[in-house]
Amino acid sequence: MNLNFLGKVIIRSTIEVKTGMRIGGSTGGLKIGGVDLNVITGPRGRPYIPGSSLKGKMRSLIEKKEGVIYNKLDKENKPYKHECEDDSSYNNCAVCRIWGILGGANFTVPTLTRLIVCDTYLDETSITEEMKDNLELKWTEVKFETAINRITGTALHGSLRQAERVPAGAVFKDSEIIFNVFDETDKDLLKKVFIAMELLEHDYLGGMGSRGYGRISFNNLEVYWNKKVDYENGHIDLKSERKINNDWDTPAKLVENFEALKAKLS
Ligand SMILES: [Zn+2]
Repeated sequence: MNLNFLGKVIIRSTIEVKTGMRIGGSTGGLKIGGVDLNVITGPRGRPYIPGSSLKGKMRSLIEKKEGVIYNKLDKENKPYKHECEDDSSYNNCAVCRIWGILGGANFTVPTLTRLIVCDTYLDETSITEEMKDNLELKWTEVKFETAINRITGTALHGSLRQAERVPAGAVFKDSEIIFNVFDETDKDLLKKVFIAMELLEHDYLGGMGSRGYGRISFNNLEVYWNKKVDYENGHIDLKSERKINNDWDTPAKLVENFEALKAKLS
């Protein structure tokens, strides 16, 4: 396979938190008065969504949908993840071509990651004064959580913990997902990125999803196509004429209209 970089698709959105979300940071006791389970925060003390969390969750959802084989074993010889191990499986594996692989020793084809997911920061204005009145901490709420015995349905003794959550209604702004197009066949792969976003809207981000945490939606989606020549000419601003998603502003609409969107990647 020859690589012939064609351009980058830039997917911008705002991420709205629909139910309290906890993406874990350092646990407990590091800060005075700290809660047991912190949310991850950036240098300015605001919660953020690490690109690695978002990217990893999207990958795990598409892996389940595609039915890939979990071929990598953990220390106890239990399969725990999928990663292609040779050229022929890699060339036919959308997941590894999009999301990348860590190892590379057995490959003769280039194994470049197509997907880059950036960290996304809290829009502080989304935490309204009314919400602040009800928050235990400046940007977050604190809930008591218990571990439940699955057999008896009762709380395990001594399992009460404080868990910090980003409240419902919070918005993370200027989310950016970048998809590199290295050859013509990559254009079809882009659809799976939108499908992963669609799946995530019906799943959860962060911890304790089975208790209803972490529902999110991607809002105000904008998709731009920056081709190779735009970079060669220094014209990399996201200009309106490069916006290719018409009024398809949700993952579902992008999936539904994918062929029309793909036709604009020229
Ligand atoms: Zn694979």
